[in-house]
Order: sequence, then C-alpha cells, then structure tokens
Amino acid sequence: MSNVGSLTRNFDEYQLVPTRLQEQLADGTTRCNLCPWRCRLRHGQRGFCQSHVNRNGTLYNLSYGIISSIDIGPIENKPVKHYRPGTQVMSIGSYGCSFRCTGCHNLEISWGEEELNKLARAKSTRPFISAKKIVDAAIRHGCQGIAFTYSEPVIWMEYVLDVCQQAHDRGLYTVYVSNSFVTKEALECLQGYVDVLCSDIKSMDDSFYKKICGKATVADVLDSLMYAESLGFHIESRTNIIPTMNDNEANILATARWIRKNLGADSPWHLTRFFPAYQLSHLPPTPVDTLTRAHDLAVNSGLKRAYVYVDQGCDCATENLPVTDYLLDTPEAILNVKQCPASCCGDEGVLLKKYEEGRA
Ligand code: SF4
Ligand code: SF4
Repeated sequence: MSNVGSLTRNFDEYQLVPTRLQEQLADGTTRCNLCPWRCRLRHGQRGFCQSHVNRNGTLYNLSYGIISSIDIGPIENKPVKHYRPGTQVMSIGSYGCSFRCTGCHNLEISWGEEELNKLARAKSTRPFISAKKIVDAAIRHGCQGIAFTYSEPVIWMEYVLDVCQQAHDRGLYTVYVSNSFVTKEALECLQGYVDVLCSDIKSMDDSFYKKICGKATVADVLDSLMYAESLGFHIESRTNIIPTMNDNEANILATARWIRKNLGADSPWHLTRFFPAYQLSHLPPTPVDTLTRAHDLAVNSGLKRAYVYVDQGCDCATENLPVTDYLLDTPEAILNVKQCPASCCGDEGVLLKKYEEGRA
C-alpha cells in the first residue's frame, strides 16, 4: 500500500497535500483508505466526503489547513471527563464529513460542500492556518490541548497529524472527536499523535447507520473502537440519545453492555441530549426522563462512569466567533483566495473539470 505524505510539515500557504493513505489500483483508480468508504477515484473525482480529489492518479486533500470554526472551552465539553480535567482546549474543524446525519447541526461546515466546491475551483477565501500558527494560537489563548471536531476529523487527517506533532512538541495534548468510521490503517497513523479519542456509538442497529451513511454498519464502528482500544488510545464513548431513533431500552442496554465487555467497566460513556435540527426538526428535544433512564440502565449494566448532559448535544460550532478573531494576522492576510501554488496539475491549476462526476 502506498502511504504518501510525510509528517512535521508546516506549509505557510494553502496547497493541495497528498492524501495520507492512498493506493493505486490495477483498474486505473486510486483508492483512499482513510475511512471505510474506501472511495475509488479517477482523475478529477472527489470522494464521498468531498475533501479528497484525484489529480492525475494521485489523491490530494483539498482542505488541509482550512479552518471552518474555532472555539475554546473546558475539555469536559467535548465531552471528555477522565483526561486532564479542568484544562482548556481549543477546538477546530474543517469542511467535509464521511456521514450525512439526518439531525446534524453543522451542515454548512460539516458537509461543507459549498466551501469544498470553492476550494476545488480555487475560489475559496476561507482561512488557511498553518499547523504552527494554530498551536501558537492555542498557547496564546491559554489552552492546554487542541481538539479536532465539528465533523469527522479523518477527512483532513494530513493536517491533524501535523498539528498533533507540533502540539506535542510544545507540550499540548490532542483530542479527536470521531464518528468512529475510521479504518485500522488510519488509527495506526494516529497512534502516538492523538491522546484522546471521543468516539460516537450512535446506535447498535444497522438500519440507523444505513440512513446516515450507505456504507456504515454497527460492526464497522465497533471494530474501529476495539482496534483503537488495542492501540492504547484513551477512549471516551458518546451517544446522542434521539427520541424514537435510538432511545429504546434494547439499544441502550446493548450499547452499555458492549462498552463494559470491550472497553471495560471504568470506560466513560457520555449520554448527550438531542436538540431538533435539519431533517429531524419535527422531533422534540430528548426528555430528561429518557436520559435519566438511559443512565440507570448503564449503571445497572455495570458501567461506573456514565454521564448525562441535559444541556449538551453533539459538539456543534454554530455560534462560535469568527476564526480571524483568534489570530494575529489581519483578516485581509487570512481571507485571500486559496490556490495551490504547485505546478503538478499543469495548466488546469486546481480547477477540476470532472469533480462532480462519479462519487465512489
Ligand atoms: S469519504 Fe473521504 S476520507 Fe473516506 S475514503 Fe472517501 S475520500 Fe477518503
Ligand atoms: S452529526 Fe457529526 S458525523 Fe453526523 S454528519 Fe454531522 S458532523 Fe458528520
């Protein structure tokens, strides 16, 4: 398998960066092996997440260093309760996600198709921030850690790894807030770079996953979590309890028992509250009684660290300050047009003629 890309890079300006895990296949496609979609792409095509593109047989990450949102807050809000409690973490996210959750609060940035289209056409003016500058900003704002969140971070793993390297070199910890749809190879890349995995178990029912991601199964998610556990990550699991979708007793019990058996009775489980959004706007917020009942089921199943959040749902970025507020550069210096300066695409630049075609 080709494993393109080296670590400890610090690009000062935007450019396409080779996809970390890619493989050229005999049929002329190139496969991305970052998540279980394993998109097989031809020249000009982009993967399901829209963040990776095939340029003349090589895959590139379009969103390296492109920041959709920044926020600062306690690590407990990720939610993580058993790693460096009381510390502050800078949360960052980009554009693109491997899922299309029907209740997602982050559509504009998590799916981010409009911004990713602009990046592909070299028309985006979204902030590019080098790995060093994001770590500078976190330290300047008194943070002890950096969290990758707001959508599945594997879609810009090239940047995640570079930021993690710089964060560790300068004494910060790193948190990866995940939908748990990540390949074993990607987890191996993250080993030693990510300190905490905050991992979703959205449901124990395959039909739930089918609705939000045509390729995902419960087994994909649980296998990824078990492999992460075997690699030694500090894992804290999370389930957003959604009325009528995953709040039934059988689902709660199955999740609690799986965590106890595979991650241990001391492994934290965070039960967050659903708030209506997007295609699930017709549902009410999760009743507090439902969350309390889920907590009781978790405790009765042997979990010692189950936590309920009545005022917290998914890790969303809807009301954050502008990204430029966290940086020393002037907005004019940051919000310029992003165009890759490399010449490997030839006269086409980064303009993609066929990117609309053939999602894998
Ligand atoms: S969805 Fe994105 S990250 Fe996942 S395999 Fe496809 S291109 Fe790679
Ligand atoms: S809820 Fe999370 S995993 Fe689902 S689409 Fe939104 S960002 Fe992606």
